[in-house]
Amino acid sequence: MADIRWPVSRRVLVLFLCVVVGTLWGGLSLYAAPAAQEAIPCRPDLTSPTGLPASPSTTAFTDPCQSPNRPSAQAPNTPTVIRIPFADEDALLPLTGNLDVWEVNRGSGEVVALIYPGQERWLELLGYSWTLDEEKTSAFSRPTARDAAQTGGIPGYACYRTVGETYADMVQLAADKPALAQWIDIGDSYDKVTPGGPAGSDIHALVLTNQNSSAVEKGKFVLIAAIHAREYATAEIAARFAEKLAAGYGVDPDITWLLDYNEIHIIPQANPDGRGMAELGYSWRKNTDRPAACNSAPNNAPYSYGVDLNRNSSFLWGTCGGGCSSADPCSVLYRGASAGSEPEVQAIESYMRTVFADQRGPNIGDAAPVDTNGVFISLHSYGNLVIYSWDFTGSDAPNMAELRRLGRKFGYHNRYSVCNTSNCLYAVDGSTTDFAYGEFGVATYTFEVGTTFFQSCSYFENSIVQQNLDALLYAAKAARRPYQVAAGPDTLSLALSAAHIDIGQPITLTATADDTRYYANGYGVEPSQAIAGARYSIDKPSWEITATHSLSATDGAFNATSEGLRALVDTTGWTPGRHTLFVESQDSAGNWGVPSAGFIAVYGQRGLQLEQSPASADATSGQTVTHTLTLTNTGQQMEQLVAVIRSETWAVEAGQPALTLQPNISATLQITVSVPLSASIGMTNVTVVDITSTYPGLLRTATLQTVVTKEPTSEPGGTPPNIYFPWIYNE
Ligand SMILES: [Zn+2]
Repeated sequence: MADIRWPVSRRVLVLFLCVVVGTLWGGLSLYAAPAAQEAIPCRPDLTSPTGLPASPSTTAFTDPCQSPNRPSAQAPNTPTVIRIPFADEDALLPLTGNLDVWEVNRGSGEVVALIYPGQERWLELLGYSWTLDEEKTSAFSRPTARDAAQTGGIPGYACYRTVGETYADMVQLAADKPALAQWIDIGDSYDKVTPGGPAGSDIHALVLTNQNSSAVEKGKFVLIAAIHAREYATAEIAARFAEKLAAGYGVDPDITWLLDYNEIHIIPQANPDGRGMAELGYSWRKNTDRPAACNSAPNNAPYSYGVDLNRNSSFLWGTCGGGCSSADPCSVLYRGASAGSEPEVQAIESYMRTVFADQRGPNIGDAAPVDTNGVFISLHSYGNLVIYSWDFTGSDAPNMAELRRLGRKFGYHNRYSVCNTSNCLYAVDGSTTDFAYGEFGVATYTFEVGTTFFQSCSYFENSIVQQNLDALLYAAKAARRPYQVAAGPDTLSLALSAAHIDIGQPITLTATADDTRYYANGYGVEPSQAIAGARYSIDKPSWEITATHSLSATDGAFNATSEGLRALVDTTGWTPGRHTLFVESQDSAGNWGVPSAGFIAVYGQRGLQLEQSPASADATSGQTVTHTLTLTNTGQQMEQLVAVIRSETWAVEAGQPALTLQPNISATLQITVSVPLSASIGMTNVTVVDITSTYPGLLRTATLQTVVTKEPTSEPGGTPPNIYFPWIYNE
């Protein structure tokens, strides 16, 4: 029973209990005072009489009517996971605004929450009932330990890199790809700026983009993870996304254009201090700020210190009063002493201001323009949800239709429910996502990945990683125009009839256009339209150049939501080398979707001149003889040469890496033949060397003869000669 409109007799009884218990707990008789308070005794004050937010307070919460987060002197601090039925939204708010709520199941009218014994009294006072969730309670209690075989990762969870491991790998990634990746220090954690405690940490962003790109306007995508410390899976997804992008550049055509035409900013550990606590096995959510009003030990969680960094943003901080965040410093939802008070939040907000332009007007009802540039995603766990702004209210954001549509594109990949948090979870204020949408107008999302905080590695690898990496890749594709391109069809299965062609030779380009790739898991259906056309552009996406070319429908007519596409590409006049084709599709409502890209290698005139010196060499048995091959690229295109020894009788070193040879450049290859001591005068060795290019169709063969004309006058001493086979560029 949790109806907020209690009968009078019950209301009086609860009021009486609050006064008595509040006094017993050392509190004040707050509820004996104004008659106006009588209407909702022992309930958080959700709004002021004017309808504006209640002013946040950080006074000591000594009254259990006011906040549940008081340790019980009588009971040990052993947590349990319970299921609490709720009748309506009014009954839900006090729970989501005060307790460590893990799940909200609106279908069954039930909340799943972690509670400590001291909180049971608060639930009783408010008239809630609950049942123990034995399975979740025992799973939560399971100790984590690193077994002997585990060499890295969080103890018991080898798939999740620690903060230190994440940072070390990102530093290495940036060092390996300096033209693509930069690891930037964007600020400090609470511990780092606070003397006398733990050392703390920097907050870092990895910036992935081709710094030498000629892009006129790059799309902006910011991804953050683990702002809630215990949400293990999130930081690992962010790190793997970074690694996928870095490894795919120059190899995968889509990843290549994504980094040429976008900036992707990844903050993999947004709350490193708190994450350090969570890596010790604590169910730690907040940072490690120690306000004077709450300084209990970590094993007293959730009566523990810290600020919920996803309630501390400077945008609409504390707006919706008791239901969206807590003013109690011991609450797991503590919003902090003031808007943006935490150094982690300051670092992230300042950084976002350097990335995103402010594209939305100053009023809550101002929509961002349809050509807004920017996507922001904050990775959380858990719940299998894609949540779009607003977070602080159930009212629609001005760009709700566009936000929801892009969310449903993500849903297609990760199969999550796509919803506003007021519909599928609960309203929150001071969230990072509301800051990003509210301040800049960019398309913002919270992904709630997986089914628990300390997710098993097998579930993570099998059911979380790939689905969410696919969704993040789509986010990168949409980052430049998120409110427009999500309405358009996806272009898939791009293929070319050959991987290499000669200049002027036509090539067939095929693809599929599909306008149906939306999913919301029960939260509505996005309409699809018939495909109306498709276009391709050469070497740059359509928005960077004026020339585009049409593709036709393979069945002869554009009239279905999914269509095969075909074009014959004329390569007359192309320059030799690798080219990129960008393909986009349009629906009958006029919406163009995101491009997909493919590579095609085009050969120019080719030529390779080979000189061998000497072709035939005289040798003394027991000695070594060096033959020099000089190779000159006399063609128009770069060649990647590989030398292979095809026949030899004496020891010749082989197996060198390929040599890149630009037009009009020559290089020498030295082949050293070891003549056996036993070889007698007149014996001859023939070494055949094939020089080929990794682009097919080019072969030069050297035939090198070594003839024994002398025998040594004395026994040779020392070690046998080194055999070497180096390429040497001719400068
Ligand atoms: Zn979270």
